Amino acid sequence: MVKIRIGALDYPVKWMDDDWKEDTNAEGVHYPQKELKIAINGSDPTRTLIHEVMHAISNQCCLRLKEEQIHPLAIMLTRALKDAKLLKDVMVPK
Ligand SMILES: [Zn+2]
Repeated sequence: MVKIRIGALDYPVKWMDDDWKEDTNAEGVHYPQKELKIAINGSDPTRTLIHEVMHAISNQCCLRLKEEQIHPLAIMLTRALKDAKLLKDVMVPK
């Protein structure tokens, strides 16, 4: 299982199939101090992972970033890091 350390906490990354998002359009979920859930078949799992990491950072640092702030930040940060070849695409387990 992949874990990502954010601050002093290790967040397990859980890869979820489509069943879990029946009642939401979310491609990821961040549970404060617990885990990050990422949709396997989401449009961009790498971007979704960065998005959920940003939620975790916002939570830990008490930044209170809103969804409408995190969403474009995650898109732009992912694009910038990929364009500079500083970010590999997330390898989604099959
Ligand atoms: Zn979000």
